[in-house]
Amino acid sequence: MGMEPTDLDRRIWEEELAEFLPSRLFDAHVHCFSEAFCLSKPDDDPPEHKMTDACPMPVIGRDELTRIYDMVFPGRTVDRLLFGWVFRRVDFDGHNAFTAAQVAGQAPSAGLMLVHPQFTVDKVASEIDHHGFMGLKPYRWYADDEVGCRITDMLPEPLIELANDRGLIVMMHLGGRLGIAEEQNVRDLLDLATRYPNVRWDLAHMARSSIAWPLERSIERIRDVPSFWYDFSSVTYSDVLTLGFRHLPLDRIMFGTDFPCDLVRGTMVSFGLGWEQLAEDDIARLAPAHCDPRPTYTVYETLRAARRAIGFEGFGKKEIEDIFYGNAYRFIHGSGPDSGP
Ligand SMILES: [Zn+2]
Repeated sequence: MGMEPTDLDRRIWEEELAEFLPSRLFDAHVHCFSEAFCLSKPDDDPPEHKMTDACPMPVIGRDELTRIYDMVFPGRTVDRLLFGWVFRRVDFDGHNAFTAAQVAGQAPSAGLMLVHPQFTVDKVASEIDHHGFMGLKPYRWYADDEVGCRITDMLPEPLIELANDRGLIVMMHLGGRLGIAEEQNVRDLLDLATRYPNVRWDLAHMARSSIAWPLERSIERIRDVPSFWYDFSSVTYSDVLTLGFRHLPLDRIMFGTDFPCDLVRGTMVSFGLGWEQLAEDDIARLAPAHCDPRPTYTVYETLRAARRAIGFEGFGKKEIEDIFYGNAYRFIHGSGPDSGP
């Protein structure tokens, strides 16, 4: 199924989301994309374009993203913290230049540099200066062990030191089979945050806790670190958000879409100690006959979960506007937009 909203998508938007979602959004986790920078071959395994059915566009730049936002969040304006899609084999320089061009002159939107762990400090420093990036986006694909990697396997310490010197953001999708429940990840985060206090960390997907249990296990140990922030892209369980809203600083929780990923129709599912995104093909295989089997955009499941959790907490307009806009603005720019630092 393509990107265009189905009857079901429209119904969920109208019945559950249209009145809830503020008019101004800041997407703290969104990718730009161009097949031109993908160096994989079409038959590489795993395939590089898994999201193609959900988002069949060869290029997602500023204008395409605006069209996607208009389609999925009609009537909303959306500022962005943008970075390149994490192709396994990627033309880093081309993709980073493309990213920078998509946010040029678009403040308060900002861009992050996709980094390989073998990049030198000089290279990263000069690209940051040249392109005006606000931070770094490492990823586990580029570490030697893409599953068990530690933070410094994705972003070696000299680059963290550079980020500290420049006061940069690090967009961190944690590695490890247990995510933030991995003892090594917690120790590394606490150690790095102590030694490099000027780095602002976005622990993406609620510290890679699309389901509640990894965060439950570690939240008491990370909650008081002032440089940790959290985007809730790809989180579709309201209990994850309830956990965050009750135990993390509310001014450091941010909305994100992970587009083009969360244009996929489906949801995150939790099982045992694991989780995975259930997509249209998976649901078609299950072929549930006892209910309406049509899925909606994963990002709508995130918003439904957020609406429920916000309702449980009884948050008002100010908290909702901060979660969907102000917190990300202050994460990126330090203060503003209108409610002070
Ligand atoms: Zn992402």
